[in-house]
Amino acid sequence: MPRLARLHHRRQCADVLVPFEPTSAIVRGLYDHLQRRYGSRLVDRSESKPFQVLADLVSLLGIADRESYLRRTVTTIGHTIYAPFTPGEASPPYDLWTQIVVAAHEHEHIVQAEESGGDLAFILRYLVSPSDRAVFEARAFFSTFELEYWRYGEVRTSVDTITKIISGSYGLGANDVLAARAALVVGLDVARVGGLSPATREVIKYLAGAV
Ligand SMILES: [Zn+2]
Repeated sequence: MPRLARLHHRRQCADVLVPFEPTSAIVRGLYDHLQRRYGSRLVDRSESKPFQVLADLVSLLGIADRESYLRRTVTTIGHTIYAPFTPGEASPPYDLWTQIVVAAHEHEHIVQAEESGGDLAFILRYLVSPSDRAVFEARAFFSTFELEYWRYGEVRTSVDTITKIISGSYGLGANDVLAARAALVVGLDVARVGGLSPATREVIKYLAGAV
């Protein structure tokens, strides 16, 4: 089946189906746009002292293994995103589409921080409370469903796949994982009727205009 993205025609005609393939320029432009829109900042992790300190903390709290955290993980602290790739430069496992999905996911965390009373309140809740962390992550992963629905007209990643990622990456107990899974089931339903989380809506708006 060809890869199709459902886009609103810019001249307000009926919906049209056009292929969407990310390009380096689109991904670079998307990150620039989101940084302006949300006041976020992208930082090279290897250059960052605070990120090394965070890796120690994350490992100390049993949230993740320090080395894999440093090597592979994308993390957002407040409005700063620490990413192991340069936007628009595909480097496995971060191909261009994955970089778009990551952009939406991390900016959902920024929206969560704004809704939680600011960066510090969010960071504390996220780090200290596994049950809050489970739900914050599940909600940020809604963006994976929503972007796939937009691009392909169907959701291709299963709830089980994301539950496995959440269960293996965030130092959660069994009950927290169950809560995350329950939230993901709802998120999948919402995505399948075209529902959009706030930052994901912004991402799709940009992509639709850039094609
Ligand atoms: Zn996340």
